[in-house]
Amino acid sequence: MHVPELVANLPVIGYLEQAELSQDSDRKRYGLAPKERMAPRDDVAQRQNNYIRQDSDFVTFSATVSTEPGQIAVAPGTLEKEWVEDGRPHWRYVMDQPILNFFSVLSARYAVKRDEWNGVKLEIYHHPTHTWNLERMMAGMKDALAYCSASFGPYQHHQARILEFPRYQSFAQSFPNTIPYSEGVGFIARVRDDEPNDVDYPYYVTVHEIAHQWWAHQVVGANVRGATMTSESMAQYAALMVMKRKYGAGRMRRYLKFELDGYLAGRVTERKKELPLADNENQAYIHYQKGTLAMYALQDFIGEERVNRALAKYVAAVRFQGPPYTTSTELIAHLREETPPEFQYLLEDLFETITLYDNRTESASMKKSPTGGYDVTIGVQAQKFRSDDQGNQTELDFDDWMDVGALDDQDAALFVEKRRVRKGRSELTFHVAARPARVGIDPLNKLVDRNSGDNVKAPAEE
Ligand SMILES: [Zn+2]
Repeated sequence: MHVPELVANLPVIGYLEQAELSQDSDRKRYGLAPKERMAPRDDVAQRQNNYIRQDSDFVTFSATVSTEPGQIAVAPGTLEKEWVEDGRPHWRYVMDQPILNFFSVLSARYAVKRDEWNGVKLEIYHHPTHTWNLERMMAGMKDALAYCSASFGPYQHHQARILEFPRYQSFAQSFPNTIPYSEGVGFIARVRDDEPNDVDYPYYVTVHEIAHQWWAHQVVGANVRGATMTSESMAQYAALMVMKRKYGAGRMRRYLKFELDGYLAGRVTERKKELPLADNENQAYIHYQKGTLAMYALQDFIGEERVNRALAKYVAAVRFQGPPYTTSTELIAHLREETPPEFQYLLEDLFETITLYDNRTESASMKKSPTGGYDVTIGVQAQKFRSDDQGNQTELDFDDWMDVGALDDQDAALFVEKRRVRKGRSELTFHVAARPARVGIDPLNKLVDRNSGDNVKAPAEE
């Protein structure tokens, strides 16, 4: 569930370049030249700014807020003092370490659900009747804090808060230890746990937003291309790893296919130019959807442990780093260190270029094996393309690793194995213990594929 991320409400000192007309067609109408959305990765001047705020670096922060009686007002920081003055309740919040100059203040007649994880106070401020998904969201907070602390390094705050706001907009946004979260993206959602294809998005969105406490609030990218790979794609990676823990790797197909379809749809609606993930210009379909796929594929090929070792080293190297701010180049350099030689090509394919496969299963058959289970034969056609920023594609030769496998009727994996597959037509065989509903190439949609729907096929029984 992806949401818009940047809303500037309070006054900003200086010139707000983001407010300029960005669409070429709009600029043309006013006689303005087209403008680049973002500066190149190595732009020295723009590396002096982070991509979230260009008017400040890390700041010390405290706030005194007051509101109407019966309401609670919340700002980032540890609650130091609470009192009533002139009939109005007051609160003083103080941050115990520098944060980005990026904060929110909310007030409402909140009810509060409280809990704790490892000494960290957890609070969900919600409409008194919106209690349906509080347990899911609280579980998401705990599971995200546990996963991110174990994988990327320590959590920097003493509390984490989620604050509901009405669905006049539908997004959630991660400020330092404080997450405004729209009624419309989880609080009033109906999640059907018994429905295998339903997505627990109150949980999923919560994990994503908590992960931003590392990816954006510890590691913040320079105001150059690829900045959101260091925040959004990493927050998505953490969310998907927590989902993998919750549901198992074999059940990840619905998330991966959802992301792939979103990416493919985004390519079609792109109005300026598509860029590789490491150079994306705050393009949601690239940093959310393709970012999720790219990071999931990388951990699937080289191992989650290696990816997290690289990310933990990266976070340790650049957390709370000011100007020159870090870039996707540094992030990829850390991943490259942990990537075995036979998989180095993946870094080029996933992050530095626009690379798409077109894999499909053309024939599929199965035979009962005398020793039990089924022997499966699939005929596949595999192609690989590199695209330029306008969508012109060049076909590539390859001899790459990819999954072959079988799914049950709930799209859960019965069998998945990596094989080397060449360009063109191949015939592949494998054995599966249980009767498969569908078999094919890249059955869980881990690879960026021009068509997500033709990878698997119901096998004919011989
Ligand atoms: Zn996000």
